[in-house]
Amino acid sequence: MTTTLDAEVGVIGVGTVGSMLMWRLARRGVAAIGFERYAPGHDRGAVGGETRLFRMAYAEGARYGELLRSASSRWRELEAESGAALLVQCGGLAIGDPGHDYIGGLLASASAAGVPVEVLDRAETHDRFPRHVLRAREVSVLDRQAGFIRCEPAVLAAVETAERHGATVLRHTEVDAVTEHAGHVEIRTGEGSWRVREAVVCAGSWSTRLLPARWRAHLQPRRVPLSWFAARRPSEFAPDRFPIFIHRVDDVEIYGAPTVDGVSVKVAGGVVSNAVDDPDRIERRHDRADVSTMSRLVGELVDGLVPDPIRTDTFTDLYSRDGTPVVGRLGAGSRLLVASGFSGRGFKYSPALASVVADCLVGGTEVPLDFMRPERLLAT
Ligand SMILES: Cc1cc2nc3c(=O)[nH]c(=O)nc-3n(C[C@H](O)[C@H](O)[C@H](O)COP(=O)(O)OP(=O)(O)OC[C@H]3O[C@@H](n4cnc5c(N)ncnc54)[C@H](O)[C@@H]3O)c2cc1C
Repeated sequence: MTTTLDAEVGVIGVGTVGSMLMWRLARRGVAAIGFERYAPGHDRGAVGGETRLFRMAYAEGARYGELLRSASSRWRELEAESGAALLVQCGGLAIGDPGHDYIGGLLASASAAGVPVEVLDRAETHDRFPRHVLRAREVSVLDRQAGFIRCEPAVLAAVETAERHGATVLRHTEVDAVTEHAGHVEIRTGEGSWRVREAVVCAGSWSTRLLPARWRAHLQPRRVPLSWFAARRPSEFAPDRFPIFIHRVDDVEIYGAPTVDGVSVKVAGGVVSNAVDDPDRIERRHDRADVSTMSRLVGELVDGLVPDPIRTDTFTDLYSRDGTPVVGRLGAGSRLLVASGFSGRGFKYSPALASVVADCLVGGTEVPLDFMRPERLLAT
């Protein structure tokens, strides 16, 4: 007996990766239905805070090279199809001690991936990017293709473009359970059940609630704090003068983006992204210790910002035990896939990753990103 399906593919969680997956499936004519417990672009998960850094020179390793290379063309495609301006390639600086693994690893991976970079010593950095204060031995590495993505408009652009291609996105619809059967996957919500040929769990920090129990020990939601500082002269922090940056000092990393509101500059990192038991109950306020750590780092390392934050907020992301995303079928030939665990880094390449996953759903194949295979977590 054949099962009647409600759609070919079910996408559970229409946040960053889910929205991009809906778009990639819809433009290929695949009947897809997305389930989102809030409205796309909301601020309770990993989307929020206006910008996400985009980098091509990537210390995390050359194995991301292909995804990063195709990501910029995918962002441009989404811009062309939606009419939204999403990716600003204003360049990016990585700053640190050249003897430290961070700068060494970044240069090695940029060279392996063929990403052009320029190394500037302290004096050259000061001449060209005077807002940054470097310590005595530090250098900066300029990646001209880096920049930032406007995160909320990106998710909205992907969803609306998918819907224009005929996709269905159910808003304010929370999935309670997903179960694999012979021939289909059942997705259960408070409003009813849907049957699809294959389903992908893209539920970010909440993914562990929907995945089989054996995966839970390997995946951890974390709260990720962001803070914004007033610019004394905002024009000095405009994208054409102040590229995105990551500055690594004393094993702490701060990062930031140019001003997008003409008032404040986002500078974050510097404080620990704590594990949380329940991503629905995170403390969004920053405690005194975190605020004073950020004030001290901003006061020392960025010239021209008032070092007391004028705004703080906190978001969440799902971290895997090894810091590498978890993307693939939950067992060979399974109809249930996961695309989650992006560990604080997944926005930049999300449309490229979604494109790879969409190809596998259409072709019924395994996801070819071996280093992200879910089984690796169970094997160690
Ligand atoms: C503060 C912060 C800063 C970051 N900075 C960068 C950066 O500069 N560059 C970069 O590349 N990456 C960055 N990242 C990482 C990146 O944003 C994330 O890795 C990525 O957005 C994760 O996408 P996701 O789709 O897994 O999760 P999300 O975008 O959170 O999407 C998950 C969605 O699933 C929905 N959902 C959950 N459960 C259910 C359910 N049961 N039913 C229906 N819907 C459900 C949620 O409502 C949510 O919309 C940052 C992350 C954070 C939090």
